[in-house]
Amino acid sequence: MENRVRLRVGIIGSGIAGSSAAYFLHKALGNNVEIIVFEKESRIGGRIRSIKIGEEELEAGGSIIHSENQYLTTIVNELGLEKNNHVYDDIGMWDGDSFTFRTGKKKWQTLLKVLMRYGTNPVKIQPLVKDMIKKLSQIYILQEKGESFADPEALFKKLGLYSLSQVTSYDYFHDKNISDRFIHEFMNGISRLNYGQDASMHSLVNHVSLAGASFGGYLFAIKGGNAQICEAMLQRSSAKVLKNKRVTTIQKEKSTNHAKTRFMITTEDGTKAEFDRLVMATPLEKAAIKFVHMELKEENKVSRPYQVTNVTHVLGKLSPTYFGLMEVEQIPSNILTRENSKIPFSSIELCKRNKKSGQLIYRIFSRQKLSEDLLNELFLERSETKTLVWDAYPVLTPTAKWPSFVLETGIYYINAMESAISTLETEVIGSKNVVNMLLKDI
Ligand SMILES: Cc1cc2nc3c(=O)[nH]c(=O)nc-3n(C[C@H](O)[C@H](O)[C@H](O)COP(=O)(O)OP(=O)(O)OC[C@H]3O[C@@H](n4cnc5c(N)ncnc54)[C@H](O)[C@@H]3O)c2cc1C
Repeated sequence: MENRVRLRVGIIGSGIAGSSAAYFLHKALGNNVEIIVFEKESRIGGRIRSIKIGEEELEAGGSIIHSENQYLTTIVNELGLEKNNHVYDDIGMWDGDSFTFRTGKKKWQTLLKVLMRYGTNPVKIQPLVKDMIKKLSQIYILQEKGESFADPEALFKKLGLYSLSQVTSYDYFHDKNISDRFIHEFMNGISRLNYGQDASMHSLVNHVSLAGASFGGYLFAIKGGNAQICEAMLQRSSAKVLKNKRVTTIQKEKSTNHAKTRFMITTEDGTKAEFDRLVMATPLEKAAIKFVHMELKEENKVSRPYQVTNVTHVLGKLSPTYFGLMEVEQIPSNILTRENSKIPFSSIELCKRNKKSGQLIYRIFSRQKLSEDLLNELFLERSETKTLVWDAYPVLTPTAKWPSFVLETGIYYINAMESAISTLETEVIGSKNVVNMLLKDI
């Protein structure tokens, strides 16, 4: 490194994007880089967060990882974290009045029911989703070679996937002769579970949701909480993590020598620190950061609307009467829904049985907060109810206005990626892209 001085990199945000950026940077530069992570909260992980309900610790944010997610699967193995496999079985499609579809007890029964309700549609979407997975997987090879892209548009164009992001899922899958019933029930059921949004989202995101739902591999989470992935990556990277430090200002230090441009970070409590490079690892429109002595490019001034998602955990017993059933045991463990203003939730999942009391723990996703009256209607009994409200992910309708991975020469922006897709793995892909860019720049 120049004059044997270590490169100082400041990272804003300790979620999966910020922590993986620290991890990749340290892997590439070892002791030649000094990394400082600023986190406004008192905990690490951002939108990865678990909560305690009963005796159990349950994910209330980013929870499920697919085994085909090559970065996360490798990182989790490297860090020696223990996986818990996650299985979605016993699924019911709720239309507000009845369950229009329910998986069978045996695999052949489910196959028969799928065939009767949805015909060959599930078979027709398989090659489409497989093609998307094949194309997306090319990113790992490109990034391994050190390639990087100026913005998500260039990245997805290179993979041959950008056009999927410019059309709604409704239009795309209609064009592919997928039936309305399959789109409105199955596809919306999954996208409402994953994103609280329907098939008016762009079709790239629905392809990704479908891949997670049905095609090969397995789903997992980390025993003891997914936030351990971020904590362990930060520890491995030897980064200094400053919690409760909200960055309020980034100032470009005026310099006549371009090569020596530096950035001054100021936090809410007045702490100041100077850096050679900065990595923004949080959505810019929510970070409330003032940029001084620099003018952000127009494409980076976009303010993306975010989908609000309420995550409610309930320790109790669901009411069979609400679903027109006789027994609690008859209620499907995973309830998916279609778009219908009468349905006040997006999904309900039976997560666990509480060890001590034997009571059940449910997780409910909803766009609006569930009122006490509604909860009393939904549940026969409740001993604990906890709700977290998230600005969860951008509203992912087709839009050509995506930000760039570079905010200003020397300041990189991982969350540009979220305009295309918001998942843990794609944030890590965004992070690897930014680290490759930074390495090229130095
Ligand atoms: C309810 C829910 C369920 C989800 N389920 C899944 C799932 O099952 N699988 C999946 O792959 N994805 C899932 N996601 C999406 C996934 O969690 C996100 O895409 C991902 O966690 C985003 O990570 P990030 O690091 O980019 O941003 P964040 O996790 O938002 O991290 C940003 C960090 O920056 C900090 N910060 C913000 N502003 C400042 C500032 N001014 N100064 C200092 N620090 C600041 C924040 O406190 C935060 O810690 C889910 C998301 C939600 C909300």
